[in-house]
Amino acid sequence: MDLFEYQGKQFFASFDIPVSKGEAVTTVEDAVAAAGRIGEYPVVIKAQVQVGGRGKAGGIKLANTAEEVREYASNILGMDIKGHTVNVVWIEVASDIAEEYYASFTLDRSAKKHLGMLSAEGGVEIEAVAEENPDAIAKIWIDPVDGLDEPTARAWVKAANLNPAAEDGAVDILLKLYRAYTEGDADLAEINPLILKPTGEVHALDAKVTLDDNAMYRHEWAEYEATQERDSREQAAHEKGLQYVGLDGSVGIIANGAGLAMSTLDVVNQAGGKPANFLDIGGGANADVMAGALEVINNDPAVKAIFINIFGGITRGEEVANGIIEALGRVTIESPIVIRLDGTNAEEGRAILAPHLSDQLQMQPTMLEAASKAVELAASR
Ligand code: GDP
Ligand code: MN
Repeated sequence: MDLFEYQGKQFFASFDIPVSKGEAVTTVEDAVAAAGRIGEYPVVIKAQVQVGGRGKAGGIKLANTAEEVREYASNILGMDIKGHTVNVVWIEVASDIAEEYYASFTLDRSAKKHLGMLSAEGGVEIEAVAEENPDAIAKIWIDPVDGLDEPTARAWVKAANLNPAAEDGAVDILLKLYRAYTEGDADLAEINPLILKPTGEVHALDAKVTLDDNAMYRHEWAEYEATQERDSREQAAHEKGLQYVGLDGSVGIIANGAGLAMSTLDVVNQAGGKPANFLDIGGGANADVMAGALEVINNDPAVKAIFINIFGGITRGEEVANGIIEALGRVTIESPIVIRLDGTNAEEGRAILAPHLSDQLQMQPTMLEAASKAVELAASR
């Protein structure tokens, strides 16, 4: 789950990371009132959208008076930034900036460690720094068992060549950011820019946080959850507890396991088609899950054919086959379905499906053949 900047700042503040005082509002009148409560000018008015480069798009403005707050808030609310409509603006007391840095923690899966990145070249997109001046990013890999201690953080700050005036403040924030990232169950915690003020204080001026949805049960994330942006298909899938991502093609996809679902997207592309979604039904392909998945896909008007790609592991082929047949008895599916069933007890599963096969329910022996068939069917409707 991705947070908006203002939520990321609330998240940071709960771990004692210094952020500017501010308020999130949805109307121009509230923006003016919020600026009044903040009680000092200038204030910064910031569009809350989950996309970078807001400044360049006109979504970040410095206001010196209540009148300017009114003008900028009315310009920014409702603005479209790279396809995202601004419904919320965050107003905070403006900071004086001496220098802008970059700091983040994320997981390096292949190293099986946390990856910390720190750079004296902040404020710009880190991808650009990585491309043009990779040496300007100081990286550390942290074993989750060891964690991050003060001497390591200090050496890291030195390696990144931050201004010595920022050293203590940066060390303090990095230790807190690491705690926020680990104890807060984030997949990404990024501050860009992390600023040094002329007064010598170090401070988070922006916040980009992705929380690990699997940890939802042990946190109070209802407020973050309530503002998630989902299209209607994603909302329906979410309510059914399915791992679904909407895409814009015409071949609906159901697979078991995230890895298989990803390769299924690739194979559909390879066969010349476009996937309508990513959908992982996970390990247990029972009738309830299958019916829910088929329903979500069936309600997508762009879907012209459905490809069910199952590789039996712990889930046995006959369970999957029974699940599909039972699900088809419950939901009326408009698009033709192509099934590829392999793995544990695949033969038993195929035997169960055999008497039900028709133009509307077809079976193919391999993933590529099934994908080609689904693509062909989608193109012909
Ligand atoms: P992003 O471009 O969407 O990542 O938005 P940021 O929150 O990172 O802000 C972009 C830039 O706006 C920063 O790098 C700063 O240069 C500038 N900015 C944001 N807040 C302030 C502020 O309080 N004071 C000043 N002087 N500049 C700010
Ligand atoms: Mn930023």
